Amino acid sequence: NKQVIFRDYVNGFPKDSDMFLTSGNINLKVPEDSDGILVKNLYLSCDPYMRLLMNHIPSQSVFTAYTPGSPVTGLGVGKVLDSKHPDFQEGDLVWGTIGWEEFSLITTPQGFFKIQHTDVPLSYYTGILGMPGLTAYAGFYEVCAPKKGEYVFISAASGAVGQLVGQFAKLMGCYVVGSAGTPQKVDLLKNKFGFDEAFNYKEEPDLNAALKRYFSQGIDIYFENVRGKMLDAVLLNMRIHGRIAVCGMISQYNLGEPEGVCNLMSIIYKRVNIQGFVAAEYYHQFPKFLEVVLPYIRQGKITYVEDIVEGLENAPAALIGLFRGQNVGKQVVVVARD
Ligand code: NDP
Repeated sequence: NKQVIFRDYVNGFPKDSDMFLTSGNINLKVPEDSDGILVKNLYLSCDPYMRLLMNHIPSQSVFTAYTPGSPVTGLGVGKVLDSKHPDFQEGDLVWGTIGWEEFSLITTPQGFFKIQHTDVPLSYYTGILGMPGLTAYAGFYEVCAPKKGEYVFISAASGAVGQLVGQFAKLMGCYVVGSAGTPQKVDLLKNKFGFDEAFNYKEEPDLNAALKRYFSQGIDIYFENVRGKMLDAVLLNMRIHGRIAVCGMISQYNLGEPEGVCNLMSIIYKRVNIQGFVAAEYYHQFPKFLEVVLPYIRQGKITYVEDIVEGLENAPAALIGLFRGQNVGKQVVVVARD
């Protein structure tokens, strides 16, 4: 059983050597006295929150930190090879939190979802049909409370979550602008995901001016993925009674001390509603979410871009790449295809 092991707590920007590959034996049967499942891992999801688990003390108690010397864990898709649990059978396809390894023994599979619809790519259950998809869905429809015709801005817009938020917003009849970090991503936003406008924030000397260019009337909804200078510029451009859904703050995850935000008075002047949210609180909505999103995929109303890397050994670099903007779309690692 090849495994990616977490070496030790990380300060600052993570390195490949913070994780290493080992190989050992594993019994491919669930022990008799357990009601667990044995999963052959197929697709691993690389998610920004995983960096927070590498800190000695997690910034919030929502998650538990990784244990040095143990496998990295994350969301992923797998196939059940053996089961002593009444809800799962050999051959079932599932997704949930697995180890970064070829095979995972899951002792408490209660948090696992069975995959029923296989007419779409299986890897989608790490992205559009998994946690990032639900994040986009709950974050946009519930937290942003959007109305037709509103002005929507999304940062890290071409990523796993952002590309979907933008497409949901277009389906709702909003005016949608996204920011991303390369010309290729800007092109995707405009020409593949149907955003009205997009810009490369790394090429903008003045983010406030850039936002004024696209939002002469101001922003009704900001879907926040990054924080940093972008949040400060957005605060200056919010409309009265605008809403900010705080999904993530990726620009801060590798900093020991988070950066300050300067323009908070705008929250008062513009009466802005700022709400944070976590996807886990919406997991009960998965069936409803799939009913909405699967038809959109099948009818071609929503498209999804994935960045697929082959091989467990390449998983650490893929994860770290998220913090350099290396991924184009949802970052997935293939461990095995079936
Ligand atoms: P992405 O697929 O968007 O990958 C991360 C992207 O973030 C990179 O490609 C890069 O894009 C951008 N980025 C990286 N570093 C910086 C930086 N310093 N400043 C600005 N942008 C940066 O990731 P996800 O879609 O999976 O996640 C997006 C956000 O949503 C994250 O903040 C994540 O933590 C959050 N999240 C929150 C959840 C919740 O429950 N609240 C659930 C899931 C995700 P670019 O090239 O455009 O800079």
